[in-house]
Amino acid sequence: MDFELSDDQRMAVEEARRFAVEKLGPGAAERDEKAEVDVKLLKQLGELGYLGMTLPEAYGGTALGAVAYAGSMIEIAKMDAGVAVAMSVQNSLVNDAIEHFGTEAQKAEYLPKLAAGEWIGCFSLTEAGAGSDPASMRTTAVKDGDGYVLNGTKNFTTNGAIADAVIVFTRVDIGGKPGISAFLVKKGTPGFSVGKHENKMGIRSSSTTEMVFTKCRVPKEALLGEEGKGLKIALTTLDGGRIGIAAQAVGIAEAALEESVRYAKERTQFGKPIGELEGIQFMLADMATDVELAKTMLFRVAWMKDSGKKRYTKEAAMLKLFASEMAHRVCHKAIQVHGGYGFMKEFKVERLYRDQRITEIYEGTSEIQRYVIARNLLG
Ligand SMILES: Cc1cc2nc3c(=O)[nH]c(=O)nc-3n(C[C@H](O)[C@H](O)[C@H](O)COP(=O)(O)OP(=O)(O)OC[C@H]3O[C@@H](n4cnc5c(N)ncnc54)[C@H](O)[C@@H]3O)c2cc1C
Repeated sequence: MDFELSDDQRMAVEEARRFAVEKLGPGAAERDEKAEVDVKLLKQLGELGYLGMTLPEAYGGTALGAVAYAGSMIEIAKMDAGVAVAMSVQNSLVNDAIEHFGTEAQKAEYLPKLAAGEWIGCFSLTEAGAGSDPASMRTTAVKDGDGYVLNGTKNFTTNGAIADAVIVFTRVDIGGKPGISAFLVKKGTPGFSVGKHENKMGIRSSSTTEMVFTKCRVPKEALLGEEGKGLKIALTTLDGGRIGIAAQAVGIAEAALEESVRYAKERTQFGKPIGELEGIQFMLADMATDVELAKTMLFRVAWMKDSGKKRYTKEAAMLKLFASEMAHRVCHKAIQVHGGYGFMKEFKVERLYRDQRITEIYEGTSEIQRYVIARNLLG
């Protein structure tokens, strides 16, 4: 990555690259094949400071900010996109939501453990009947004495099986009017359990599960942010989350490009390396241009977040839309450059092609990103 970074940012990205190459690269194909979630790798990332990159030092973070986080995410995603999404959820969905909407007591209790990787967190918004339209969720929280009782099932929660802390969004009744609130629930709370584990097409080294709440009682201190402001908390937090997913997409695409350049130099047909054929050269040129453009956008939006701009909703949606669809184009061409070998599991591009696909779906599908952009344009 040659974007101009400060020394601290550059060192963080270089260290992430070293960790990814040494610790993630060697076992990535096996974790993918076995759908193995290795929580130890995440804990190691936490020990190195990569699970609290945007948090202030007072809460155990490294305070390196979104630009360093985006650069580090690229490096992790190049080697294992499943580990990258786990890192993204922790930094940009869980930590960010607690830092910006939590009480001082919640920040002091949760953030140092999350930043150190002692605790893994997850963000449970989606339900079987409420995906792109989260406001139609059915999970409820009902006031009961000094606390709330939660009932319902969330699905497709990243980090679900390994989570120590869950941010869960529920319907609430506010003086007779319906609303949505967010709650912090700890592993081991009676009435809370992990449901179905999903068997996925890609990012198979990450955990995706149902989260089941059955008469799950939480104290009033578990409420995150203001009562009834849950949807705002979710949507504001997802702006930052989209930086993480865009970085994941850029990492996957950059890895596909590098594999393709290497292969184009090695593979010989018609008596010369295929990289000397114009048809292959044009594909590589388009892939490199696509990656470069997405990376430029990524660092610009990360910089907007670091500069403290209150909302960058439109830009984050444009970034996530472009970077994920860019990664689709690049991974498609990477298979083409590899010919039949690209279809085989021995070649990394086969995994990258499958891993890329989800970036166009989670944290808002491409259609939802277009809707958000258009709504911002039209006012
Ligand atoms: C591997 C994985 C991990 C995930 N991790 C998490 C997580 O950690 N936490 C979490 O809360 N969720 C998570 N999700 C859920 C994810 O965010 C949703 O799957 C996504 O938002 C889409 O919702 P849906 O699957 O219900 O699709 P639907 O909303 O049913 O969409 C189906 C199709 O309809 C289109 N569509 C829907 N509404 C509109 C519209 N208004 N205009 C145009 N087209 C529309 C969609 O774009 C899509 O093409 C994860 C999902 C997966 C697969």
